[in-house]
Amino acid sequence: MSENVSRKEKYENFIKMIKDSGVNYDIDKIGRAYKLCEQAHEGQFRSSGEPFFYHPVAVATILFELGMDSDTLAAALLHDVVEDTDVTIEEIEKQFGSDVAMLVSGVTKVTQIGKLPSREEQQAENIRRMLLAMSEDIRVIIIKLADRLHNMRTIDCRPLKNQLDNSLETLEVYAPIAHRLGIRTVKEELEDLAIKHLDPVGYKEIEDSLQSVKEYRQQFLEKIKAKIKNRLKDIVPNAHIEGRVKSIHGIYRKMYMQGKSFDEIYDIYAVRIIVDTLNDCYNVLGIVHDIFRPLPGRFKDYISTPKPNMYQSLHTTVLDREGVPFEVQIRTWEMHRTAELGIAAHWKYKENIDKSDKKMEERLAWIRQLLDAQKESDDVEEIVRSIKTDLSQEDVFAITPKGDVINLPAGSTVIDFAYAIHSAVGNSMIGAKVDGRIVPLNHVVQTGDVIEIITTSAPGHGPSRDWLKMVKSSEARSKIRAWFKKEKRAENIETGRAELEREFKRNNIALSGEMAEEFLQKIAERLHCNSVDDMYAAIGYGGISIQGIIPRIKEEYNKRVKAAPSVDVSKYVVSQRKTSTDGVIVEGIDNCLIKLSRCCDPLPGDDIIGFITRGHGVSIHKTDCTNVPKDISKSFEPERWVKAYWDTTARESFKSTITIMAIDRPALLADVTIALANMRVAIHAINAREIKGGNCQIVITVSIENLQHLQNIISAMQKVDGVISVERSAQ
Ligand code: MN
Repeated sequence: MSENVSRKEKYENFIKMIKDSGVNYDIDKIGRAYKLCEQAHEGQFRSSGEPFFYHPVAVATILFELGMDSDTLAAALLHDVVEDTDVTIEEIEKQFGSDVAMLVSGVTKVTQIGKLPSREEQQAENIRRMLLAMSEDIRVIIIKLADRLHNMRTIDCRPLKNQLDNSLETLEVYAPIAHRLGIRTVKEELEDLAIKHLDPVGYKEIEDSLQSVKEYRQQFLEKIKAKIKNRLKDIVPNAHIEGRVKSIHGIYRKMYMQGKSFDEIYDIYAVRIIVDTLNDCYNVLGIVHDIFRPLPGRFKDYISTPKPNMYQSLHTTVLDREGVPFEVQIRTWEMHRTAELGIAAHWKYKENIDKSDKKMEERLAWIRQLLDAQKESDDVEEIVRSIKTDLSQEDVFAITPKGDVINLPAGSTVIDFAYAIHSAVGNSMIGAKVDGRIVPLNHVVQTGDVIEIITTSAPGHGPSRDWLKMVKSSEARSKIRAWFKKEKRAENIETGRAELEREFKRNNIALSGEMAEEFLQKIAERLHCNSVDDMYAAIGYGGISIQGIIPRIKEEYNKRVKAAPSVDVSKYVVSQRKTSTDGVIVEGIDNCLIKLSRCCDPLPGDDIIGFITRGHGVSIHKTDCTNVPKDISKSFEPERWVKAYWDTTARESFKSTITIMAIDRPALLADVTIALANMRVAIHAINAREIKGGNCQIVITVSIENLQHLQNIISAMQKVDGVISVERSAQ
């Protein structure tokens, strides 16, 4: 039978791949695991129609590429066997040893979550189990990441609801964990696949933008590489120079979360220089700064202070002779391996690694920290939020007067710093000095700050509730809450009750007498509180976030009071950035993240419509944009299109990009910028390049107030000598 032949080939190819690695793998054990996997899953199929065992084989292949050990590969092949077939853990232990059995049961435990009421609660429980599994053996989570990666690669065959839910979870949980473990290759692929499904339009915009400037940037990079190579050839002859393109998700974040335009992102393309020794890194840096002018404030030494996920490199942004900024990354080969594989680099080319490796223990300290922080919180969903805030952000490094380096999430204040030293330091804090000067408590820590915390030993002193609004790290937040929880129960109950009442009013929840009592009792139960007072107290000290529970309260209220439950679309709008809502009103959703879509660049005055992207706010398109279905009621998911209007009361400027074609001549660019300056138009980005036939294309991103203003700018540009055409561009 032909299928048997191809199965035989598949097996042989897999074994050959492992043999060819030249690493001393336990081929016998891996081969037996493969056979058992194929046999046990016989007759099972994936939604794509493929035999099921293709999936564990693919997961094992991903782990092989990361350089994981024999036991991990065997466990990957068997990871779904206990859950989906008759094979038991005892049998696996007998055939493959206790390590493989432990890994398989770890992965199975993480996978099997019972029925919990809400997606958030399921996710929280899932994360808690993952953290626990990680603290036992980190390989469990590396298998889980590879499992998720293969499922995301093949997610197109799944129903749409699964695609969206899994993509959101991948972005919120799995990718941040891969990031913390430093497994860049897996992290970036997970993020790109998730964004592709959550916001297909935004994904394609970036893909197209990258494609359109590809040739030009490639030539640019080649020129830069040649220049560097030429200067390095005598001093660091072994230097390896390569170009690097930022991941689509990385660009997406900068464009939609930080509101930058494509042209304003300096590190879309970067030059990476890999050398043999640490000394060479700094030598190369000196030479690069000698050839190109460095941009001030953009140099980062992640070699002397590595990122918490072990990443090491020198980063600098420099200008070429024409003033085009680009990023340069400099590192050794060893740092490069860690940058790509992170924690997995531990296993690469090594068998029988000592699990009590001290360095590794240190590197995984954050897992214990998260588990501890979680114990302080009564709110299971809190852990989801801490993963999101703590794990997915850039870090800053500040220094104690004794010279200890403290890592904090970007945006942290001196209060975070105090609590990072010790909870006793935070609780007795009355002030702080940065570089010798007294600063306010909401002072945001910058990398390199030397911070001294001023404390008091006065009895009865403690943190203030306002501090909860100033801190960024979940560590500080949970320590402050722990203090209030312990010290101020009566006060917490009062604060909690008042807060909840206020929130009820805001949401038009009106209950009286017995009904109110019963309703509150029910809510308390759903939040795992023993009594209504416990719930008030938890709200009071911040263990339960009121914003987090309001959707569930509304749902419960609608169930009881109103017959028809309304769909709370705002549940899917996870990233909230208040300022950006100014200017656009979306019907039915307050305070959500708005992004003006780049495919049609809508401006005040245009007719617009919103699209709920699940996970990344509402994107606003012109109603005549090609990405808006002609007949929405017949479109794929009509409920995700929402009415949107320009808020005429808000006066805000918008960014718009225009493309000018002109006959190239001296001072052309100067004349264009002078004309804009005369109109008092702010320029955000400008790019000029030669095109065929002696012509020149200038792409400018400017601030404008409305459509009329843009038209005025366009006609002013048309009057510049030599200009052939001016167009508002859809990037
Ligand atoms: Mn699986």
